[in-house]
Amino acid sequence: MTTRILLLGGTGDALSIARTLGPQHVYSLAGLGRVPADLACAVRVGGFGGAEGLARFLADENIALVFDATHPYAAQISANAARACEVAQVQYWALRRAPWQPQPGDDWRMVSGWGGVVEAIMPFSRPLFTLGREPLAHLNEVPEHQHWTIRCLEAHPGHARARVIDARGPFTSEGERALFTEARIDVVVSKNSGGAATEAKLAVAREMGLPVVMMQRPPLPDAQREFASVQEAIGALDDYIKRSFHA
Ligand code: NAP
Repeated sequence: MTTRILLLGGTGDALSIARTLGPQHVYSLAGLGRVPADLACAVRVGGFGGAEGLARFLADENIALVFDATHPYAAQISANAARACEVAQVQYWALRRAPWQPQPGDDWRMVSGWGGVVEAIMPFSRPLFTLGREPLAHLNEVPEHQHWTIRCLEAHPGHARARVIDARGPFTSEGERALFTEARIDVVVSKNSGGAATEAKLAVAREMGLPVVMMQRPPLPDAQREFASVQEAIGALDDYIKRSFHA
């Protein structure tokens, strides 16, 4: 019986899981970020060509289980994976990181899509964007009364009214406090990613009385098994591999 696992990644959590997989398993990345060179498992980079392409890959590569550890806002690949697993009759498991919950004192403004972000930040002048590269596509749309600070994984020169900081978490409260103060931030724009690595910005926004414009999470497909933590996921995959080995 095959025990081959395809791990869909692109997050720090996925990398932690990939580090536990042996050479017969495959770790798959879209190809936008760093590709680790020190893993025991195979690494493949680039899309599959939609759900159909992924279903073909699963059959050709004799995959028995797809583990989805992609980012909660990477909804396309998750939808493709669920569909492909159904077609290829392969198990679909997923890490579903719990969303952050607003705490007393928080002023969260829920929006959906880029249009919602633009509208919600209109009353403010110094937004900090912490939602990936999307604002880079709108650098020529900074309103006259605003200066944007954009933190993402990509280096970019920005311009007079847009500064781009390329930085990778985890971020500390001290660091966030220093950035918010120095850049005179008056509103924070975020995805509800969950997890500890980038949570400090929310605590500091609360402490400084700043509103947070929060993008709604996209809907994700149900998985046969869902895990809330990396440790749980690693334990279950380990059990699965041992059980399959002895079957
Ligand atoms: P997406 O919209 O869900 O996916 C777009 C396409 O990228 C997919 O249809 C697929 O191409 C390819 N793809 C995505 N993840 C892949 C993977 N792990 N392995 C192989 N192909 C993959 O994804 P996205 O929002 O652009 O995010 C891209 C990657 O960055 C994801 O792996 C995600 O985990 C990571 N990431 C995303 C965010 C975010 O906020 N969206 C944040 C941090 C990290 P095909 O259809 O050709 O197969």
